[in-house]
Amino acid sequence: MSIVDFTKTPVAALYGSHCFSNAVMRERLPKNIYKEILAVQRGEKELTLEVAEVVAAAMRDWALTQGASHYTHWFHPLTGLTAEKHDSFIAPTPDGRVIMEFSGKELIKGEPDASSFPSGGLRATFEARGYTAWDVTSPAFLKQDQTGTTLCIPTAFISYYGQALDKKVPLLKSIDALSKQAIRVLRALGNESSKRVYTTVGPEQEYFLVDKTLYDTRPDLILTGRTVFGSMPAKGQEMEDHYFGAIKERVAGFMRELNTELWKVGIAAKTQHNEVAPNQFEIAPVFTTTTAAVDANQLVMETIKSVARRHGMEGLLHEKPFAGVNGSGKHNNWSMATDDGINLFEPGENPESNARFLFFAAAVVEAVDRYALLIRASAATAANDHRLGANEAPPAIVSIFFGGPLTEILDNIAEGKSSAKSEGGQVIKLGVTSLPNLPKDVSDRNRTSPFAFTGNKFEFRMVGSSQSIATPNTYLNVAVAQVLSEFADKLEQAANKNEAIQSIIKESYAKHRRVVFNGNGYAEEWMREAERRGLPNVRNAVDALSVLIQSETIALFEAHQVFSKDEMESRYHIYLEKYAKQINIEAGVTIDMARRYLFPAATSYAGTLAQDAAALAAVGATNIPQAKQVKRIAELAAELYDETAKLEAVLAEAQEVEDPFSKAKVYGEKVRPAMDAVRSRGDGLEKLVAKHAWPFPGYEELLFKL
Ligand code: ADP
Ligand code: MG
Repeated sequence: MSIVDFTKTPVAALYGSHCFSNAVMRERLPKNIYKEILAVQRGEKELTLEVAEVVAAAMRDWALTQGASHYTHWFHPLTGLTAEKHDSFIAPTPDGRVIMEFSGKELIKGEPDASSFPSGGLRATFEARGYTAWDVTSPAFLKQDQTGTTLCIPTAFISYYGQALDKKVPLLKSIDALSKQAIRVLRALGNESSKRVYTTVGPEQEYFLVDKTLYDTRPDLILTGRTVFGSMPAKGQEMEDHYFGAIKERVAGFMRELNTELWKVGIAAKTQHNEVAPNQFEIAPVFTTTTAAVDANQLVMETIKSVARRHGMEGLLHEKPFAGVNGSGKHNNWSMATDDGINLFEPGENPESNARFLFFAAAVVEAVDRYALLIRASAATAANDHRLGANEAPPAIVSIFFGGPLTEILDNIAEGKSSAKSEGGQVIKLGVTSLPNLPKDVSDRNRTSPFAFTGNKFEFRMVGSSQSIATPNTYLNVAVAQVLSEFADKLEQAANKNEAIQSIIKESYAKHRRVVFNGNGYAEEWMREAERRGLPNVRNAVDALSVLIQSETIALFEAHQVFSKDEMESRYHIYLEKYAKQINIEAGVTIDMARRYLFPAATSYAGTLAQDAAALAAVGATNIPQAKQVKRIAELAAELYDETAKLEAVLAEAQEVEDPFSKAKVYGEKVRPAMDAVRSRGDGLEKLVAKHAWPFPGYEELLFKL
């Protein structure tokens, strides 16, 4: 634990001290080189080796003065995690010393071998060549831990044949694709100044904290990040007393250090609060450009874990660590902005006459309707299946919330009516003189919508807490790019631009407004209403992933040069495999815990009760509750025993299946229910067996002790 005294080291001085940001580059690089780097960041130029040499030297000097001994190309393999392989800067000299070296070549290209990462068949292990290439759009940073200080260079990971082996390359390509189409639209709308359009992203990260000593006693938490057994205590989240509650001392200490660590590497950690479930929390940084936000979110997740350990806790990023209370998600706040600072989703005070806003908003509506399955697939994981559609997270139905006023404006366009001029600068009147009146937002909030417009950005809420946000953003960017390209085609050809703008919005919105829903997304009626509207409701990840290999999807990604057919198919297989592997581990842990911990605990406690009962009977006691209790326990223990055997049989069957889709299906449809059956017996026993005789800490400790 290290506590930084902000009176001695002000936050502004600490911020970014471990980040090779543009500010540092501007300071440390010759002017012409810095300009080159900016041009490369904007996608206007390619990086030359000469420029890289100069940057590498500056980066090395900067890192060495901060005590770095190693560097690493830091990348995002398809595991969804990050990967690093450290190299020291040392280069031995003939006379037995070392100098600290770092060349331009070492900066721009690495060859980590890395043949054991999933490639979904893109790369056979015997041809292990995989390369990492510097991603100039995301800043290098220093990582400090027991290995010392390491310079981390964000990179993309590609195969010898140039296929993307990671999540970064497709993301970068999707941003390019979106920019290209958005610029076409902007030009057609009369904008001559913007050169590039960026997507901006601000992810809100939810997580749980548990006491480390408790965590260490539970094989399920250690191996899977979630509890596969555990019965709800008398109290859950029903009092709604945790959400936004005062932050406990121990957690506060953790949050302070978490912020400090993130600020150092230039991540603008901004918001923190208690979440709905007990011991659940959230952190949100200020939004930034998408690649930087994606990298930052990976670091946020890593840092939550490492800082939690320093505070004797464990950070759980799993989507559903505890049954019976809310799981964790990641709200992907997403918008589009031009290089000259225009947020394309800023409605302004008069949205009804803001053609640019309405045009881009209509494009998003159409994209979300047409590519709902793809958007759903971007959040399809085994762990997220516990959340989506479980009345705590958005339903598995993809819909958009716009709020009353904006929906009315769009509806009016679709119906050819004109909208009343909105009164700019409306305020919410509080009617209490001591309180200021608040400026009114053009839309209200809706917490139940998977894709909610929240003032000047969209909040995509399906993403799971442990997921990399690279893939959801990639799909989203491509979906919107496609619609914008079609809009641009029409607009560019139109003789009368103003009429064309109107008619494009009108036609598109009339056709796709079925995806707009402002009501309660958790309600039963919405399921029926959505079905009536023909909106897909794909409840499980395995089915949701199928869209990835449909020919239209592949054509879409090929058209925008984001994924080739091979790359898409490889990902499909990797996701299916990951789904199966995850459940395979959980089922294995369930069997192990049931057999080696729960069953022995229950039977030995039953034995004790039986002895007590016999002893009581021997002295002539007539009322012997122990006898009743022992019967109940014995019955449930026998069921636990049988259900465990059934699970084992089903698991063996699943393990034999070869075809990835069928295999994932068996895991989802047979192994999972069999696990649930074991769990319900185990949880039943937990309620009957004496606390001191139970082998694990229960939810009352895990969820309430900190
Ligand atoms: P909420 O009220 O939805 O919980 P938070 O303040 O927790 O909001 O998080 C909102 C997130 O949205 C922050 O990360 C914020 O920086 C981000 N955000 C704000 N404006 C934009 C934008 N234009 N593009 C992307 N993200 C944005
Ligand atoms: Mg929030």
